[in-house]
This record gives sequence, C-alpha cells and structure tokens, in this order.
Amino acid sequence: MSHEIIAIDGPAGSGKSTVARALARALGWAFLDTGAMYRAVTCEALARGIDVHDQAAVGALAESVALTTLPRVTVNGRDVEEEIRTDQVNSAVSIVAANPIVRQAMVARQRRWADEQQLGTVVEGRDIATVVFPNATLKVFLTADLEERARRRGEESPESVARRDQADSTRVASPLRQADDALVLDTTGRDVGEVVGEIIACLMKLHLS
Ligand code: C5P
Repeated sequence: MSHEIIAIDGPAGSGKSTVARALARALGWAFLDTGAMYRAVTCEALARGIDVHDQAAVGALAESVALTTLPRVTVNGRDVEEEIRTDQVNSAVSIVAANPIVRQAMVARQRRWADEQQLGTVVEGRDIATVVFPNATLKVFLTADLEERARRRGEESPESVARRDQADSTRVASPLRQADDALVLDTTGRDVGEVVGEIIACLMKLHLS
C-alpha cells in the first residue's frame, strides 16, 4: 500500500456514503463507493436477462464489464446512476454480492483503483476493513438504529433494508462484520460534520502517535 486508506464499513443507511464523501472532500482524498460497483454489475445482469442466481454467468459478467463510479456510475459506458437505486436492483444486489466470483473480481478492481491514486483514499462498503484493505490506516464501522437507517434510505422500504442487512451479514463470502480494530460510531441523530470531525480527530491522533 503506497498511501493512506480510510476504510468505512457498515449496514445500509448507516451513513457510510455521506460520511465517506464528506470526509474525502475535507481531506482532499479520492473516494470509492464499492456498493455502486455491486449495484452496477446487478443492473447489467438484469438488463441482459441473466439469472442473478447463475453464479458462473454473473461471475463472468463481473470479470469482463467496464465499470466507473465517478463522476457517474457507468457499466460498459452506459450511465446507470439512477438505475442502480431501483427496487429491482435493491432486491437483487445482495444475491449478486454473495457470489464469490463477483466478490473476487470487485476486490481486485478496488485494490487496483487504490493503487492508481496519487493521494489518500476513502473507501466505503461492507468488507473494506476486513477483506479488501485489512492494513488500512484507519478502519471505521458506522451503525445507526434501523428506523433511522430506513428513513435515510428514502425510497427503499424498511423491510428491504432489513432483508439486505440480513443477507449481507449472514452470507459465506466476506459477510458484513465489524473489524476488531475499527473505530465504531453510532450515527443515530448525529450530523455529518460531527461524525467526520470525529474520524479526522482519530486520524490526527494516529499520525501523532
Ligand atoms: O452500499 P450499498 O447499500 O449501495 O450496497 C449495495 C449492496 O452491495 C449491499 O447491500 C451489499 O450486498 C453489496 N456490497 C457488498 N460489499 C461491499 C459493498 C456493497 O457486498 N463492499
């Protein structure tokens, strides 16, 4: 690892994307939303009529597609920024993300992406601190109570959020879990600036120690 990485994990609606984005902006670092990558692969599988349970077919797709997440989420050049948030994708993404071939392909891309950055990076997802970057400079695990997480997800129903959390935490391949050495922050009722400030304070402390 040639530069610093802040790994942020947590369940749906825990504030990962918002906090990670604001943190990256405050530090002037690059940002990667890995959930958008799993969502983009899911979009493409659905668009091609591939059965999301067909691990070999979806795995081959994940290995071969061209993906971007910023400035827009695209798959093979097709803009899927809005499509990745539909109910159809919400219901299928955890099945795609439990596929070990897909995970291996995404983790390789995430590591390659980080290697290519000139600056530090903030990466958010479910397995970032535990699997993708176990040597990250700082590991953060965000939580929030279910009611607030469902509220933050807006369009997505509380049942769908709970279903995804259950699937993501109980799958065999890289389940969502808190790293032993993570800074755990409950974001319920807290504003973004406050949480970002706490993470930066922790980073500063690490630099000074
Ligand atoms: O973060 P977001 O809710 O957009 O993630 C969508 C889905 O992608 C999650 O429910 C999970 O199934 C999957 N995911 C994952 N590993 C990651 C990031 C997301 O399995 N690192």
